[in-house]
Order: sequence, then C-alpha cells, then structure tokens
Amino acid sequence: MQQCTTVADIRDVIRHQRRQAADGRIAIVPTMGALHDGHVSLMEAARRECDFVVATIFVNPTQFAPGEDLDRYPRPLTADLEACRAARVDAVFHPAVDEMYPADAETFVSLEQLPTILEGAHRPDHFRGVATVVTKLFNIVQPDVAYFGQKDYQQQLLIRRMCRDLDLPVEVRTCPIVREPDGLARSSRNVYLSAEERSAALVLYRALQAVLDRFRAGEARTSRLEESFARVLATCPQVDVDYAVVRDASSLAELEQIEGPAVALVAARVGRTRLIDNELLTR
Ligand code: AMP
Repeated sequence: MQQCTTVADIRDVIRHQRRQAADGRIAIVPTMGALHDGHVSLMEAARRECDFVVATIFVNPTQFAPGEDLDRYPRPLTADLEACRAARVDAVFHPAVDEMYPADAETFVSLEQLPTILEGAHRPDHFRGVATVVTKLFNIVQPDVAYFGQKDYQQQLLIRRMCRDLDLPVEVRTCPIVREPDGLARSSRNVYLSAEERSAALVLYRALQAVLDRFRAGEARTSRLEESFARVLATCPQVDVDYAVVRDASSLAELEQIEGPAVALVAARVGRTRLIDNELLTR
C-alpha cells in the first residue's frame, strides 16, 4: 500500500496507475480517519467494484465550526493505515492541513439550497467545507467512482448534486449504514460517549425503527410518523434532539404524505456528542 502526504506524490501514483491500466477504474473513499467498520465497508465496496482504491484521511478544518470538536477529533493514524491495508486499499492520501489549504486560500464551493436545511441549519458553513474538500480531493485524485455512506444522508445527496451541477465526471456510490450489534450507527464520534450516554444514544435507532414499523403498518402521513418519532425520542430526556423528520429521499423536501421514496432523519446531542442517523422508509 502506498502512502502519500503531498498532492504531488498522490498525483504521481495516479499517473503511474493510469499508464499501467488506462481503462482501469479508480475509486476514492474520502474519510476523516478514526476508521471503523462503516469506513471499511466503503473500502470493501470500492475494492469489489474498481481496479485501484485510494482512501483519503483528512480531518477537514473547514467543515468544523468554532467550538465544535476539531481539536479533540480522534486521529489514530497508525491504526487507520493498518485498517486500510487490511481492506486492501492501494494508496492512502493523508495530507497535513497546510498541504490542502494554503494560508491565503479563498476559493470555496457552496451550494445554494440544500445546505440551508437540516444539518446545514444546525451547522452553518459545514457543507461549504465538505463540498470544497471533496471537490479538491476529486481534482487531486481524479477518480472514476467515489464512495460515501448513507449515514451522512444529506452529505451524499449534496455531493451527487454538486457532481451533476458542476459536471464532475465522478460516479457517486452510497453504501448502507453499518451498525453496532445493538443498532447504534458506527461513528468515529461514538468514542466520546460514556457508557451511560452510549445506552441513551440507542434511542435514535429505536425511534427510527418505530417510524419504519408504523410506515410498514400502512401509515403514510408524515405528521403521524413524526409524532411516533418524537414520542420515542422523548423517552430519553438526556437526548437533546435537533431534528427528527420524514422527508422526500431525493430532495429532502417536506412531505404531507409519503408517495415515493422517503427517509427518516434524526440528529441529536447526547452530552457533548452530536449524533446523526437515518433510515430509508421502504415497504
Ligand atoms: P467520516 O470519516 O465521518 O467523514 O466518514 C467518511 C465516510 O464514511 C462518509 O461517507 C460517511 O458517510 C461514511 N460512514 C461513516 N459512518 C458510517 C457507517 N456507520 N456506515 C456506513 N458509512 C459510514
């Protein structure tokens, strides 16, 4: 497995790979490290479907707001490289911040509407940071296919829309949410949770399942589904809910009645840790 920390080095690796296999498909799996089974599932999908897999590890400062967890975000690089090797990644790009952002960088990528709702409403500028770093990583690696997790539902929608709007020649794949055996969605931020907080956090999964069960039992009115959502979440007062909603799966627009693909999304704070989760509502 090759390891690169500079843009010039990873570009050399990619150039070499393109010369070796001009028709080969190059995959990118962007991550912030602290890798877990969710990340590994993306690498495994990339390994199955592509010829050359590049994983990137970069805790992107522009997607954190002041006061968020940028400084304490876990950075276990040695273990992360081992996880990439075990997933048969071909190359890892793990640049330092100044390699990605010159001190006088002033160009950002931002979308108009999608970042104003849900996650974007609670984390201003978050998606500008995401769209910018993903564009940069796409320009650096020039992948054919990019792998993202359904866990960050709004993020993968935004990246799909950005690729379409800017004609970026990258196919976006979204992989299912990987969960702990008890249902908690895997997240690099789970390490922040105390034992008590961790068991409180399970209410997110229980609430999503309650919505899904009610939908499958025939309820299609979102107001009713959102009532169930809120009712289950309220059973756990340590969990401070930012939003718990049912939306159109491709636009995240509000719905009165579910007629096509829909998704239930939740974000909540458990102690100092903010968690997100979602479930597609399929019958
Ligand atoms: P992060 O390191 O948190 O930026 O995540 C990197 C990628 O891994 C994103 O596309 C996430 O959506 C994806 N991811 C994170 N957690 C999970 C999970 N539990 N299951 C599937 N994908 C995930």
